Amino acid sequence: MIGSINWLKKHRIWNVPTLIIIIAFLLFIIFLIMILNSNDEDSSTIYVTQDAEIRTGPNAAYPELYRVYKGDNYHKIGKAGKWIEVESSNHKQKGWIAGWHTNLDIQKDKVASADSLKGKTIVLDPGHGGGDQGASSRTNKKSLEKVYTLKTAKELKSLLIKEGAKVKMTRNSDTYVPLGERKGNGDAFISIHNDSLSSKKANGGTVYWYHNNQEGLAQALNQSIQKKSLLSNRGAKQENFQVLRQTKQPAVLLELGYISNPTDEDMITDQLHRHIVEQAIVDGLKNYFSN
Ligand SMILES: [Zn+2]
Repeated sequence: MIGSINWLKKHRIWNVPTLIIIIAFLLFIIFLIMILNSNDEDSSTIYVTQDAEIRTGPNAAYPELYRVYKGDNYHKIGKAGKWIEVESSNHKQKGWIAGWHTNLDIQKDKVASADSLKGKTIVLDPGHGGGDQGASSRTNKKSLEKVYTLKTAKELKSLLIKEGAKVKMTRNSDTYVPLGERKGNGDAFISIHNDSLSSKKANGGTVYWYHNNQEGLAQALNQSIQKKSLLSNRGAKQENFQVLRQTKQPAVLLELGYISNPTDEDMITDQLHRHIVEQAIVDGLKNYFSN
């Protein structure tokens, strides 16, 4: 700067209009740099849109480095296929995240989840049983919750086995199992229930979770059930149910419709609709395990 002013002085073109032009030019350059920088900042910052993990490479088969959480943001430093290489703002964390867990418009390959249930152990807990009949309907069908939770679990079991999963059941027949015994080691625990209220109007399905590591599974199942079944959606909610509290692995309690609502009861007792819900649970699990 000083050098250029001396040069201008030396060549006798140093005057006020030149100075104004130089200052205006410099301001323009500074302005341009700011604009470019801010654009760069926007396009290189990505946001995590659901809890996920950062891996050592651009594929779910690479080892996990860190858990990342919804709302976290990172600098994007690279891309390979549908995976994004990211770095934290303090440069301490670096790795790869699947693009579909970020705000970037990247959809997951459907094929990727094809055999994600293979080898997984799913614990199914058909609610109630034996002397504990659970909820019941007030229509002529007099449907009992304990009957349909067991039917659903058995039907779901055969679908899961077709996907290569192993299935453990907390009960296989109309027997009473105390809440404290409704558990088992596995990759996921699913307790199956039907809701009931004195008002006939209440209807729809709810997916409950309790521990933080259970919410991802709850969201995946809720999304899938909502998409496929005819049950109205009451969402995924946190609730302190004993079977969830005593289970440390990903676990959900599914309320698959209100048996006290005649429309929901028709769906619960209809094998065709049950099959749709069960397939939705399988698809939700596949999505969950391929993430
Ligand atoms: Zn129940």
